[in-house]
Amino acid sequence: MTDYADLAPSSRRIMTPGPVEVDPRVLRALSYPILGQFDPEFTAIMNETMGMLRLLFRTDNKWAYPVDGTSRSGIEAVLTSLIEPGDRVLIPIYGRFGHLLHEIAERVGGEVTTIEKPWGTVFDPAEVIAAMDRVRPELVVMVHGETSTGRMQPLEAIGRECRRRDILFVVDAVATIGGVPVETDAWCMDAVIGGTQKCLSVPSGMAPVTYNGRAEEKVLARKRIERGLRMPQDSTEIPGRGLAAAVQHAYIRSNYLDLSQLQDYWSPSRLNHHTEMTSMLYGLREGLRILLQEGLDARFERHRLHEKALTAGLQAMGASLYGDPACKLPVVTCVNIPEGIDGDSVRAMLLEKFGIEIASSFGPLKGRIWRIGTMGYSCRRDNILQLLGAFEAVLLRHGVRLPAGEAVQAALHIYEQQASSKADV
Ligand SMILES: *Cc1c(COP(=O)(O)O)cnc(C)c1O
Repeated sequence: MTDYADLAPSSRRIMTPGPVEVDPRVLRALSYPILGQFDPEFTAIMNETMGMLRLLFRTDNKWAYPVDGTSRSGIEAVLTSLIEPGDRVLIPIYGRFGHLLHEIAERVGGEVTTIEKPWGTVFDPAEVIAAMDRVRPELVVMVHGETSTGRMQPLEAIGRECRRRDILFVVDAVATIGGVPVETDAWCMDAVIGGTQKCLSVPSGMAPVTYNGRAEEKVLARKRIERGLRMPQDSTEIPGRGLAAAVQHAYIRSNYLDLSQLQDYWSPSRLNHHTEMTSMLYGLREGLRILLQEGLDARFERHRLHEKALTAGLQAMGASLYGDPACKLPVVTCVNIPEGIDGDSVRAMLLEKFGIEIASSFGPLKGRIWRIGTMGYSCRRDNILQLLGAFEAVLLRHGVRLPAGEAVQAALHIYEQQASSKADV
């Protein structure tokens, strides 16, 4: 018999745009006993988590719950449920994840029109609004924080103009939720998808989503109750179309990612759909509890501070930062790989010799930039200082000429400045 060794994953400093390190409190919550999915103790945890998610998304929406699966499942659930085959969809793209939205919207039958900006920049909201008037879409779908390029799109003006034109505005806030302000209601976003393994610092495997009554109306118009769950009053099936109530609309084609069924499961009627991921929900609840204990504003400020220390350090070592600084995503910092340096070799040495992980990028940026994440539990002073020291050493080892010792000093300077501006530190 083969004797497999005990699992013994190394402890890392994870400075990527996800997955990131997880607070030990979340890891502990993952190990609690299982409860049955209709146990009142468990449904109370479900309800409480919905309340916490409303605070996270800054919304009064009735619906705020996790979809089981990685963030991509949340995106797919929202797009599958809201895009009816033939719907006109406008997708502004400024990086890899915008292309993913296009990919999914097209697969579910949307008539997609895209507009694109060069990677490293974002849209002037007026450009998106002009495209809306040209395309007259039913939906506008776009990314808030584009992790592939480290850019962040201002959304407020776009949301306002969508609402005025009665267009549904759907936003991928997977990378930003819990790290930078995401104002679901104030920015008129009809559906928002978050992520767990980035600024929330909960393991990958759930996708918190929220949507308002405007989105729900569309979802309900496309509802089809599963065959084995129908009650006599649930009206009759029209072949190929769904239930009579929904005959004006094509029913939602996914079963697993059908928001109309998921919301029934998350409502007091608890209409059975899948089996909720017990342990993951414990983890998510604990991650949200930590976030609410810290306070959203304090958390956003913490992310800003460590970004400032990191960029000060990188600039002091002479690194060149990638992208338009006016729209930099605070939780991802992109560094141009110097001419003649093997970016993957630098990353491998950081991981092997220092236990620190940073990321590369995709598509046109592959081999051209490194991406450093400062997200959630990984966004800490000790991580920033260790990374700067190690990065400098590894770059020197790779023959890059740089002013040795300056990076950590520059970051320490930022921390000291911040400490002296706060009476309590
Ligand atoms: C990470 C990320 C995703 C995909 O998340 P998964 O959890 O890997 O499915 C989608 N959109 C954005 C903007 C991301 O940063």
